[in-house]
Amino acid sequence: MKNRILKILGIIVVIVILLQTVVMAASTSELEKRKNDNKEKINDAKEELNDVKEQKSGVQEEINDLDSQISDYQSQINELDSKINSLNAQIEESEKKLETAQTEYENNKELAEERLVVMQESGDTTYLDMLLTSSSITDFISNYYLASELAEADTELLDSIEKERQEIENAKAELESNKKELDNSKTSKQAASSKLSVLREEKNTQVAQLTEDEKAIQKQIDEITEANKEIDQQIKQAEAQINNNGGGSGAPAGAPSGSANLGNVSSSGFIYPVPSSYQKITTGLYYSSGAYHGAVDFGSGGINGQPIFAVAAGTVIISTRLNGSYGNYIIIKHDNGLYTLYAHGQDGSRTVSTGDRVSQGQQIMRVGSTGNSTGPHLHFEVRTSPGGYSNRVDPRRYLP
Ligand SMILES: [Zn+2]
Repeated sequence: MKNRILKILGIIVVIVILLQTVVMAASTSELEKRKNDNKEKINDAKEELNDVKEQKSGVQEEINDLDSQISDYQSQINELDSKINSLNAQIEESEKKLETAQTEYENNKELAEERLVVMQESGDTTYLDMLLTSSSITDFISNYYLASELAEADTELLDSIEKERQEIENAKAELESNKKELDNSKTSKQAASSKLSVLREEKNTQVAQLTEDEKAIQKQIDEITEANKEIDQQIKQAEAQINNNGGGSGAPAGAPSGSANLGNVSSSGFIYPVPSSYQKITTGLYYSSGAYHGAVDFGSGGINGQPIFAVAAGTVIISTRLNGSYGNYIIIKHDNGLYTLYAHGQDGSRTVSTGDRVSQGQQIMRVGSTGNSTGPHLHFEVRTSPGGYSNRVDPRRYLP
């Protein structure tokens, strides 16, 4: 009979161990699945990053193209600048030349006019007149030479006057054409300059856009990688617990100093996660700064060390400690499909492990100030899906 009892007890012990192993294995495979999901997410993000990089090389080509256009316009502008300078110098020279020619022309014209007056006054207009009025042949010859010399000088004078007049015309035409070219060059330079600034702006926009996309995707990858590290740690913990026959799992809760209000249940089936004297919400869905908090905080004076209760029955899907952010935290999946999260608990106060089944009002942890916390409080979240901040909803809609 005694043997039989021992045998039955032995079988019960084996069954309990097996069941525990199955539960832990199930939660481990759940974690593995989440890890694989995250790996897929990382791959997606990496693909996206590659797309961006390809896009980048496309954009880079465009930028290079813009750069060469920019330098083309820049050298056009430089050329136009030196052309404008030399045209200005030419114009100045033409103006001087014109002035000189004009002065010479005026002088010679005056001289020619004086000569004509002299010849008219002397009356020596023809050779016959000259011959008749010469007192002697010597006189005539002397007069003749004088006259022909004068005539020759006059011809030269008239020639040079005509030449100067032509030069003035040429200088004027050159000046006009230089001025016109100058105007054209200035217009071209203005067009090139505005095209240049448009191209520069276009280039800046594309470079900035590219950097934003890359930054965003890199951040996404970093976040998922970080989350996977935590999951890895949780898997290791779960496996260690399986190897130790689930040691510590489902340990009985210590006597709470306050008790759960099991009689005060909301329409969602939730009770408050803290004893009745500490149910005042000290920070709502938004911080006083207006930033999104995504949770409510219970931070009344004296709350340090008070018990934290599961707001409804469910399964623990995470019970761990993060150095930053949540500190000691627990996520419970409830039968209505919602998830609740309890954070900043005291070190060593977590009494449930991943995979544990909890009942409503069961103590799961004590209020503390671990992780990113400035004082003892319970940070309480309700989520519609376990992962991701975007699935957080206002807890007050679910509390009594
Ligand atoms: Zn909080």
